[in-house]
Amino acid sequence: MAAPSLKLNDSIFKVKGIGDSRARILKKNNINNVEQILYYFPRKYIDRSRISVIGELKPGEQVTIIGVIKSISSRKIPRRNLTITEAIIFDSTGYLTAIWFGRKFLEQRLTQGLRLALSGKISIFRGRIQMENPEFDILEEKDVLEALNTGRIIPLYSSISRLNSIFFRRILKLILNSIDEIPEILPLEIVTKNHLLPRDIAFHEIHFPSGMGQLQEARRRFSYEELFLLEAGIANLKKKFQLERKGNAIVASGDLIKDFLRITGFKLTPSQKKAVEEIIFDMRREKPMNRLLEGDVGSGKTLVAIIASIYVVEGGYQTAFMAPTEVLSEQQLQKFEEPLNKLNIRTGIFTSSIKASEKNKLLQRLKAGEIDIAFGTHALLYENIEFKNLGFIVVDEQHRFGTIQRKALIEKGNAPHVLVMTATPIPRTLALTVFGDLDISVIKDMPDGKMVNNRTFSYHLLEEERVKAYETLREEIKKGRQGFVVVPLVEESEALEIKALKNAEEILRKFSGNDIKYAILHGRQKPEEKKEAMRKFRENKVSVLISTTVIEVGIDIANATVMIVENAERFGLSQLHQLRGRVGRGKHKGFFFAITNLPTEESKARIKALIECNDGFELAERDLIIRGEGEILGLRQSGMSMLKLARYAKDQKMIIKAKEDAFSFILGGKEDLTSQLLLSEAKKRYNLFEMAFIS
Ligand code: ADP
Ligand code: MG
Repeated sequence: MAAPSLKLNDSIFKVKGIGDSRARILKKNNINNVEQILYYFPRKYIDRSRISVIGELKPGEQVTIIGVIKSISSRKIPRRNLTITEAIIFDSTGYLTAIWFGRKFLEQRLTQGLRLALSGKISIFRGRIQMENPEFDILEEKDVLEALNTGRIIPLYSSISRLNSIFFRRILKLILNSIDEIPEILPLEIVTKNHLLPRDIAFHEIHFPSGMGQLQEARRRFSYEELFLLEAGIANLKKKFQLERKGNAIVASGDLIKDFLRITGFKLTPSQKKAVEEIIFDMRREKPMNRLLEGDVGSGKTLVAIIASIYVVEGGYQTAFMAPTEVLSEQQLQKFEEPLNKLNIRTGIFTSSIKASEKNKLLQRLKAGEIDIAFGTHALLYENIEFKNLGFIVVDEQHRFGTIQRKALIEKGNAPHVLVMTATPIPRTLALTVFGDLDISVIKDMPDGKMVNNRTFSYHLLEEERVKAYETLREEIKKGRQGFVVVPLVEESEALEIKALKNAEEILRKFSGNDIKYAILHGRQKPEEKKEAMRKFRENKVSVLISTTVIEVGIDIANATVMIVENAERFGLSQLHQLRGRVGRGKHKGFFFAITNLPTEESKARIKALIECNDGFELAERDLIIRGEGEILGLRQSGMSMLKLARYAKDQKMIIKAKEDAFSFILGGKEDLTSQLLLSEAKKRYNLFEMAFIS
């Protein structure tokens, strides 16, 4: 009897072999219909050419073998509270021992007589060939015979709960044999132009490849499909929000900027000048600016933003100037209040420490348009704060905020211009793709007389070597310099955080000396306490600031030359780079020490990159490769991590190509059935609104 024909949007219940309990597991994993099963791609493949035989294995090799379980058993390692599970595996050429630590449950799963593909590294232990903690897949005999005899490639699927690779292989074979029709979803001209496999053929080839070349083509087709759909969705957002939306053209002479530069004596670096020009160019148009200002720590981004705000004031609009923390916001105001007020620019700061009565007055003044530049944290956007005519929003150190909802930005004004500043360079491809179409200004040079970072020496020390760091700190203090000791933030527990800080105090006293004066700064302190600690440090009343990561961004103390980061393995690469940027800002060279306890391979790679490299942009690229996409910049929630096949690091060219294709298709094309189908597909797959940061 011919299998009943299936359609893509048929429910999974229609597939033979899927009943209530299996359906429940699939549904939990967002697999509800036939099409979604088809998109459950194999995790990897086994082909004959890559299978080794046990008789020829050599220690140190990384191999895949196929064998049968002869026996399996577990035992406890005395005194170590650890279970060891041992399986003897054989093929026609010999025996091998597979061992797993702490995975006793395998004893139930892997029973005698089962056929396995095992992948792992070969070692010799007491004369026996051994594989430690190998990856394994359960295979069916007929698959293995087929693979060995006909050279067929075996697809291996990740298990979902008790639905294993064998289950998926069966179901997918069944579906592909009885599927009615698989229509193309990409525009035909795109398929042709990029020489892509048609979707129906690609499904067959990705699940049951007829050869390695065909498999590669199938993967290329689906990678491209993912990217194209993602970019089509972004293009559509852009069309809706940006192109069809009018903001305020802010037009002014720029004289007020000249006055500001005259009275402060600042002379802009070439990059700063260019950034200011780019920003003003944007703001003179009605289309809301959506610009990212990137530059290493200390490169003078804040000054650029202040100057842009002054332009906005002259043009008759208000600015919301947002910093990631209140401490930083206060520091910014403190720095610029005087010259701004001299120019009759009215400033105000909104922090949690101002009294209610005072705050009411401020709110009224803001609403009446009597404050030109409002400083504060992102509370400026979310709280019940009204502007008279907000024209410009500055967001400093964007990644600390996480995602700022475009909606919140827009509701505060008539589509204000937005400038986002970050010291974490966003790799160009990402900026152009996942973040839609951000315009970017980059500050490449440092303000006069400073050579941040390239005058900072960086070291990685283990805990037992930390005395070197603290001795350097002591010597620098003797010369009149100052330093930071940073410990990781403990978000879950106040007690633990206090303990970590106490511990840091003890270490400081022990290794740098009992006489060292220090202050402590952490997130749970009251605002006055924080201010007090900062003041003491700024005025060099104390030599050391012991702190959790609250000092990460923007703190500007030219006299600080030493940065010691304890438990550096707990920090991300860009965070560490930011921290390093806090020292060596003055004319003296800086010292940066990353101290680690039991670093993982990944954290070692991170710190190695940091020590080898001073350039923020290069570090961002390296970070991306170390961590993989999805982690960086909160991309986890964004489109990038929803990609199944395409990978940022290796598919940059394809990403750019798909973007170009999708944008010209959506923005240039007509709104026909093809584009509607495409966009509804994009919507189904990606949560585009969350992803669109300010695109
Ligand atoms: P970023 O925000 O990029 O980390 P800041 O704007 O805080 O950098 O600038 C770092 C320091 O350099 C500040 O003390 C700032 O006043 C100073 N600075 C910025 N631009 C200039 C300039 N063009 N000339 C002299 N000093 C500058
Ligand atoms: Mg800054």
